[in-house]
This record gives sequence, C-alpha cells and structure tokens, in this order.
Amino acid sequence: MQIQTLEDFQTVRARWGEKLLILGHYYIPDETIALTDRQGDSLALSQLAASNETCEAIIFCGVHFMAETADILANSPEKVARRGGKRVPVLLPNFLSGCPMANMATMREVNECWTRLGQLIDTDEVLPVTYVNSSADVKAFCGRYGGTVCTSGNARRVLEWALSQKRRILFLPDQHLGRNTSLAMGIPAEEIVLWQKKEGAPAAALENARVILWEGFCHVHHFMSAEIARTLKAQNPDARLVVHPECSQAVVSQSASAGSTAFIIKEIQNAQPGESFIIGTESHLVERLKNTHPELKIQHLGEPHQCVNMARNTLPALFGALEQLENDALENVVTVPEEIAADARIALNNMLALG
Ligand code: SF4
Repeated sequence: MQIQTLEDFQTVRARWGEKLLILGHYYIPDETIALTDRQGDSLALSQLAASNETCEAIIFCGVHFMAETADILANSPEKVARRGGKRVPVLLPNFLSGCPMANMATMREVNECWTRLGQLIDTDEVLPVTYVNSSADVKAFCGRYGGTVCTSGNARRVLEWALSQKRRILFLPDQHLGRNTSLAMGIPAEEIVLWQKKEGAPAAALENARVILWEGFCHVHHFMSAEIARTLKAQNPDARLVVHPECSQAVVSQSASAGSTAFIIKEIQNAQPGESFIIGTESHLVERLKNTHPELKIQHLGEPHQCVNMARNTLPALFGALEQLENDALENVVTVPEEIAADARIALNNMLALG
C-alpha cells in the first residue's frame, strides 16, 4: 500500500495502534509534529522509547544520533530477550537527517586526540564525557573509559559528578555547552582549554586544565550573534533574553537565563500575559511558541535559524516510514551493532544513574 495523503496515513496509523510509537523532536516542522505520539528533546524521547513495553516499531522524527540512542536503549539484550528475541526497529523518516555537530567528532579524530593527549598529560586523570548529540561510537568511547553522557538539561550535574571522579574532563563534541556549563560551575576560564583537531593545545595550558573542550558546535546556535543580542536588548529593554546553552558564551553571558529546549518551553509557559522574550534557539520551536502563546511578545534572536536536518522530517518522509512498516519493506532502520551499543549503554546508564 502507498501512503500519499493524510487520510491514508491516519487509516494505517490507526491499524498499528499501540504497536507503533511515533516520536517527534521539538525542532521538527509543525505539520509533522502534529502526527507524533510524543514530543520532547532527544534524551526524553529515547527514554520513552526504552520504557515502552507495547510498541513493536518506532518512527523517530529527529536526526540520526537520536534514532541510534533509541535503538541502544530500546534493544538492550535483556529487552530483546524479554520480547523472545525480537528487536524493535527504529526508523528515521529521512536517512539524510544527520547532525553536523555530532559529525564533528569522528572516532578517528577522537582516538587521535586521546593518543596525543596521552603524550602531554596522564589520560588516567581524564574522564571523557559526551553530549548526547554525538554518534554511538563516541558514546561507546566514553563508556569504555568509565565516562558518561550528558544533555543540555543535566550538563552541570553530570560535569560535577565527572570532576568528582577524575581530575579532568574531555568534553565532546559541543564546546559551547562545555564552556558555558563549566563557567557556570565557577571553573576559571584558564582551566578550560579548547583542543583543536590540528594544533591540539599547549602543554602548559593542558597541565592546568580541568575541562578540555572538543572543537565542535551546532551551527544553528553557534551563529547567533552577540552583537545582535546587544542591539535587540537595547531596543527592547523589557524583554528577557532566553537562550540555549549551545549558543556562544558571548551570547549566554548576556541572557537572563539559558537552558535546554524543555527549559525554554517551561519559561514561556510560566510567563505572565504581556511579557516580552527574545529567544535564542531553533526557529521551528520559536515559531511554535509564538503561535501557541499569542498573549506574549516573542521574537527570534536575529534572523530565524533553522536546523535543515530536522526540517527533513517532512510529511512525505513520515508517510514513507510508515509505508515501509506497513509493507514490511524496511529500509530506514537505524541499528547500532551490539559491540558498540554495549559500551554506549554503559555511558548512558552512568548518566541515568545520576537521576
Ligand atoms: S539543531 Fe544543532 S545539534 Fe540539533 S540536530 Fe540540528 S545541528 Fe544537530
């Protein structure tokens, strides 16, 4: 059967019932998110995928690393054994939906960094920590060395734990989340060092480093301008600037508050009618907040910044994923080999154990 219209989709969707779970990240287009069963940020959605006991298939409207995380958590050997050996396939509506920031830390680069770091400092003193926005390989690397994963919502708690375990952290792949969180924890700027893929970092700086940052960034947030933030704040003195911690420190330092997408949504939900906001995050979410809260004055931090990879979760892409399930012709399944998934699960479970 071909699924070409909303009616086709709804007919087939109804037939699948609870056997199918459709998840949608906050940054995907409105018309697609309207057809998802649950919405959230990447980790919350993966946890939903892991805790669901009834579904036999998942469509994850997001990007590749999110589907990987859902696969790792939903298809642990214990869960697969409980299902009599059956895996829950995790489908990505569009296989081109990658995350450029996750792709900024390849395993070749991370291994090379670890080797070179070992020539400059004692890596037994370094705990690798990765933002959940990273490949399964990088999560597995962290798990292998006793490290962990964090989200933008729990980064501070995770980094505090990590620094109670080892003298230093290697933080992958988002330099901004690592820097903003470390500074908020009171770590002096001279103890936060950027590792550059080509040049590395000076041995003297590394000797004092408590946090070694990878060079990655999310282009959606990285290019939000501190200059524009200053101008908009001057033009709208009553407006609160609320931004995502993937923005640069120059932007975050001007904000009234910074936090995850879930945090930003809560700030808006708790606002009083008439309040004014400048929001620094992905434009699909900002537009949705504007539309659902007409009682507030909400504007983007400068030009709207869209994640093109999230935007690839179009209705035809979602229809195509459901069609693959319906016709038992699976193509867009994201599967993490168990030897990688096992180590990645160690890192994820180290985070989940922190509560
Ligand atoms: S918004 Fe940024 S971090 Fe999120 S998927 Fe897009 S590029 Fe990656």
